Amino acid sequence: MQINIERLLVDLEKYAKYGESLEGGITRPSFSQADKLVRELFINELEDMGLAVTIDGAANTWGRLKGSGKKEGCLVIGSHLDSVPNGGKYDGPLGVLTAKEVIRTLIENGIILDHDVEIVSFTAEESNDFNLSTFGSRAYTGKLTKTALEDVRDSKGNFLKDQLREVGGSLENFPEMERSFKEKKGFIELHIEQGKRLESKNISVAVVDKVVGMYRSRVRVNGQANHSGTTMMEHRKDALTAAAEIILHIEHICKSEKNDLVGTVGKLHVFPNATNIIPGMVEFTFEIRGDSEEQIQTVVKKIQDNWMQIANERKVEIEEKVFLNQSPIILDSEIVSVLQNTAEELNEPYLTLSSMAVHDAAHMASVTKSAMIFVKSKDGKSHCSEEYSSPEDIRKAGNLMLHALIHLDKQLD
Ligand SMILES: [Zn+2]
Repeated sequence: MQINIERLLVDLEKYAKYGESLEGGITRPSFSQADKLVRELFINELEDMGLAVTIDGAANTWGRLKGSGKKEGCLVIGSHLDSVPNGGKYDGPLGVLTAKEVIRTLIENGIILDHDVEIVSFTAEESNDFNLSTFGSRAYTGKLTKTALEDVRDSKGNFLKDQLREVGGSLENFPEMERSFKEKKGFIELHIEQGKRLESKNISVAVVDKVVGMYRSRVRVNGQANHSGTTMMEHRKDALTAAAEIILHIEHICKSEKNDLVGTVGKLHVFPNATNIIPGMVEFTFEIRGDSEEQIQTVVKKIQDNWMQIANERKVEIEEKVFLNQSPIILDSEIVSVLQNTAEELNEPYLTLSSMAVHDAAHMASVTKSAMIFVKSKDGKSHCSEEYSSPEDIRKAGNLMLHALIHLDKQLD
């Protein structure tokens, strides 16, 4: 039994029409007009397939296929349908539409699982104007509460609670989400890799067993602003050259790590930022991601020691404010091994990787057994119109999901 790849490709193109941007990509943030229309399409299609559709408090869309009733609860597959501005057609939709294709294949082949099977599309997974990425899965898993969201607005002043209501959600229905945790028996999210690890080994799929931990801080380098002409080189306390040296060292230290650890300075503010003034202060963001807590902490310490040394030499001062320190998330070993065994049974070479980005599965992991499948991304590109995964790679990943779901149904109580 195989998924119908042709039908899945047609689906991908169809969904990509919603929110098509002038620049050639897709702009479909949650709560936008394009999002509203795509939700309508999705709900109609699920109903046409005979699924029972529900919208929860966070406006996540769920479609349920009845099982034989021999086992309680449901196995969930899915991802998200929203996109970043001018994004691609695969990040999110590939997971949702492959899940839909898997369910269609089960129905067509008359296969009735012991558990119910549920497809989900989570609301606002991408960064958004409410500053709440992975909103739907965080809300669903109880990490965002009704009280905390009551006054949340976007940059235009719109209340989140009003936007939610427009797509069928409601803060009032948050407690109900919690009551549904125990009937979720497992979750598998299929997603594009968004990196080059699969491509560099020419392997189509990966089983994801961890989601990286993240350390983020704001670093301030205090030097001394002064006249750029009259202050001789040896009399300067240039905050920007100090920051530059620190940043290069961050790169160097991270590059010398063996495992998949990455470090980034993505945002920099120079004060006063004028041509004829030696920069008196620089602020930058510092981020480390890695799949081992110990490694993250060791590297952070190494970098901090290093910047103190640079600060001493350059006579500047450094302040750091940590605003995120999140441990890696270990995904469910039982589902991971079902995925691995299924790949072997299908004779499909695979890698076992950590996810370097946070996905809805990372949050679902706190309420049910969860794991992920990655599909090879061309040139490692995502969040841009050039996102691409080949039909062949998608077909393999879809079949892996289909057969793993059947195995999981047998294995789980
Ligand atoms: Zn995504």
